[in-house]
Amino acid sequence: MGCAKNEVDTQRMQSQLRRAGFAIANDPQTANAVVVNTCSFIQSATEESLEAIFEVAGMPNVAAGAALIVAGCMPARYGEELADELQEASAFVPCSKEDDISSIVAGALGLTDSVLKDLRSATLGAVPEGAIALDGTRAVSAYVKISDGCDRFCSYCTIPYIRGRYHSFPYEQVRQDVADRVAEGVREVVLIAQDTGRWGQDFDEPSSLGTLAGKLADEFPDTWFRIMYIQPEGITDELLSAVADHDNICNYFDIPLQHVQPRILKAMHRKGSREEYEQLMEHVRDMVPGVTLRTTLIAGFPGETEDDFDELCDFVEEGLCDYIGVFAYSREEGTRAYDLPDQVEDDEKAFRAQRLRDLADDVCTPLIASRVGSTVDVLVEGTEEDGQLFGRAMCQAPEVDGVTYVDQGKPGEVVRVKIADTLLYEMEGE
Ligand code: SF4
Repeated sequence: MGCAKNEVDTQRMQSQLRRAGFAIANDPQTANAVVVNTCSFIQSATEESLEAIFEVAGMPNVAAGAALIVAGCMPARYGEELADELQEASAFVPCSKEDDISSIVAGALGLTDSVLKDLRSATLGAVPEGAIALDGTRAVSAYVKISDGCDRFCSYCTIPYIRGRYHSFPYEQVRQDVADRVAEGVREVVLIAQDTGRWGQDFDEPSSLGTLAGKLADEFPDTWFRIMYIQPEGITDELLSAVADHDNICNYFDIPLQHVQPRILKAMHRKGSREEYEQLMEHVRDMVPGVTLRTTLIAGFPGETEDDFDELCDFVEEGLCDYIGVFAYSREEGTRAYDLPDQVEDDEKAFRAQRLRDLADDVCTPLIASRVGSTVDVLVEGTEEDGQLFGRAMCQAPEVDGVTYVDQGKPGEVVRVKIADTLLYEMEGE
């Protein structure tokens, strides 16, 4: 369930289970154990995760005794309380224990160490090679996590409580993850974290995201690198130069602003103002020609007046961002914003979020359409059910920005196309 970071965790657990001698079933209904890697950062995600858990609990194999294991953010957020509520589960694996997944699954199945050892030797060499997407297909694009946790404690966010304090992964670990993916045939590595811009600042000898990206891009010149989730404070001139100077670092920035009204930003425990963000976006465009900008915004935060919301709408209408993701504020127990006065009614939050989405579509789709006639490289990813080839240009991040349809090429190849047409966020290349 959940975001790309959770997807990376799922893939990591899958690799560990494979290495321990387990086979990953294509159909959970045929499995001896089913692991649900949950998301729980907002209430609706918790509800979806619960639905998935109950769906699995109802499967004939699970009803007949297959193990049901609940992993990830939900056990991290709710701990013991969850174990009391979810009697259906055989075991819980909070994020911090995911490295123990093999022994937890083995324990849930009642496997002894000697059986595990036999399993391991029986499957040695039979582990499939190549990056495997969650649906079992080979991937040409892969996420690599460069850190975990977050120290920012935005007042609405549960992540620091679920994932713990910020900790960068050492350069060698990130480099090895990238090298493994590249060896498996991956052509695009998407660097992710809760707060990518902070990478390296917690080392004894501090480093930076700009250094990391530049070094990786130099070492893997045929690989596209894309960096997601850079908080505004993480946009440094060093990073902008690294992106501008490397053809294989996508000139694409995903900068979550969340709001532009200073009083609301302060209540969110974030810094900034509309003016500062306008300057930031312009500065990025000046330093990185042809850059694509994405942001996310929250509508209906406690205390957001009609005027504050209008200011957010005005900012969207300026057309500084090519892509905008919009969320209605979700009131989460255990966060500071939960107790803030002047909570906005649910209907009003939904209304504002939808209005902002519609506005973003009105502003952004003409920006996408203005790419018609330009020439771009597209990384071919696969074919639709009807056989239509598709891929993504550097201006399109996986899963969120749409795709580019192309008329030739094979998955994993980069083809140069002229954008002939667009439909909302999708592009068509010739
Ligand atoms: S930066 Fe803020 S919103 Fe993002 S994970 Fe950290 S606390 Fe949450």
